[in-house]
Amino acid sequence: MKIKVKLSLGLLFLFIVIILITAVSIFYINRLANDSKAILKANYESLEFSGDMLEALDLYVASDTSWHAKFKSAIERQEKNITETGELELTTTLRAQFQQLVNDTSITRINSMRFFIYRIIDLNMNAIVGKNSAALKTAENAKMYIAIISSICLLISLSFIINFPGYIANPIREMTAGIREVANKNYSQRLHFKSDDEFGELAQAFNTMASRLDQYENSNLAKIIFEKKRIETIINNMQDAIIGFNEKNVILFANEQALKLLAIPEEDLLGKYAPDVAVRNDLLRTLISPEKSIKPLKIYAEGKESYFTKELYPITANDTPIGQVIILKNITSFRELDIAKTNFIATISHELKTPISSIKMSLKLLEDKRVGTVNSEQEKLIINIKEDAQRLLKITGELLDLAQVETGNIQLQKQRVQPKQIIDYACQALKIQAEQKNISLNIVCDDHLPGVICDLEKTAWVMVNLLSNAIRYSPENSQITVQSLEKNSELIFYVKDAGPGIEQRFLDKIFERFFKVPGADHSKSGTGLGLAISKEFILTQGGKIWATSEIGTGSTFYFSFPV
Ligand code: ADP
Repeated sequence: MKIKVKLSLGLLFLFIVIILITAVSIFYINRLANDSKAILKANYESLEFSGDMLEALDLYVASDTSWHAKFKSAIERQEKNITETGELELTTTLRAQFQQLVNDTSITRINSMRFFIYRIIDLNMNAIVGKNSAALKTAENAKMYIAIISSICLLISLSFIINFPGYIANPIREMTAGIREVANKNYSQRLHFKSDDEFGELAQAFNTMASRLDQYENSNLAKIIFEKKRIETIINNMQDAIIGFNEKNVILFANEQALKLLAIPEEDLLGKYAPDVAVRNDLLRTLISPEKSIKPLKIYAEGKESYFTKELYPITANDTPIGQVIILKNITSFRELDIAKTNFIATISHELKTPISSIKMSLKLLEDKRVGTVNSEQEKLIINIKEDAQRLLKITGELLDLAQVETGNIQLQKQRVQPKQIIDYACQALKIQAEQKNISLNIVCDDHLPGVICDLEKTAWVMVNLLSNAIRYSPENSQITVQSLEKNSELIFYVKDAGPGIEQRFLDKIFERFFKVPGADHSKSGTGLGLAISKEFILTQGGKIWATSEIGTGSTFYFSFPV
């Protein structure tokens, strides 16, 4: 049965109860009213008529002639109000005696008539008493019936009052608890309402919803677990070591390669706070340190040396950082190729040096007039060969330097050096080249500048390289400033030219090996190694090197050392 029907029935029942009580009350009140009306009409009036008749007899005794009319009117009214048994006989007898009173006026008759009047009075008085007790009984009955009906109605209403709120509220409470459980992802929650009302339908809909969610969750879970397994397998089979951290730096996962390299059992790693583990593990310490290492990491694991580069990927979800992944890329094979290439370059450069030197020797001999005279054509050829040999020597020299840098065999001879020494050395070396292009060198170097600890030869090499580039790329009759100054506890050297300038996007790239600015005048450029070697020389000494430039205005190359 529907709740709506149940509510309507409940209200109908209460309505019927009210009508029943009202009807019973009206019925009994009517009965009581009728009883008292009956007493008034049937008996009280007879008492009144009897009183009138007694008064008329008294008038008769006092010889008042009005007695006859009064008595006649009273007896006539009494004759019309006969209600009790025996009253008719008494009234008829009284009427007969009233008619005989004309002939017989004795006191005996008067008394006899009084006797009959008193009998009528008695009869009605008794009837009044009888009817009164009947009315009392009716009232008693009314009280009893109304009490019984009211009690029954009260009991039923009470059970209504007690049960009905629960009838509505209990399913709602159960439903709320069920919804809360579902919200907490407990999709096995079901509602068991037996009724076939709206609550029953609601429970059925709820159960369908929960079972669908359960199915969805289970199918999704299975899918997610499968995908997780697949990703884990892929990650585990990768040659690169992968370690994942959450935002609190707790290690979430590490693939087999990572476990091998770190040489830590999985159970000592996963779920642990990374800095705690790093205390006992040098590699992890290097990995989680915020310092960026430019050099590949050399790791000795499983009996061999391998080279890795560290890559750090921050992970975010909806712009909120949720951790990071560190990938150690295995670059051993590239490294081996690189070493082979470096060795090859070193060998070739070294092997080329001797023939080039002998070419230079031979050229010197050819130039010597004592050996023999050469004509002007031959002299031009000799000059060209000399320039090319010089170029070749420079290239092989640079290649050798690079090989030295790459193999990490740079031997630093650090000493305290005055900035002026470096600047003077470079300017002296390139004085002639500058003069050839009529370039004036503006040297600014305070004698009181503090000395720096560095390798004089390497630093001077860098200075020479920067100045030679500046001269090479500067137009004729321009000015180059070579300056040294102290700023923020650093000694900065710079070479500022008025050359063509370098585009902003190439400013970092020019320090890479073999890089030449695209579109620039390559008749002037060399191997593209000078700045790369300069960078290596400065960085190995703990310094910094950078450049600023503006197209059309010129470039400035800086390097600095901490004082
Ligand atoms: P290179 O031997 O080719 O000069 P570098 O490493 O010294 O090699 O320089 C790399 C590139 O940077 C050059 O090819 C050139 O294009 C650019 N470059 C270097 N110095 C300057 C400069 N002072 N002005 C303009 N371009 C420069």
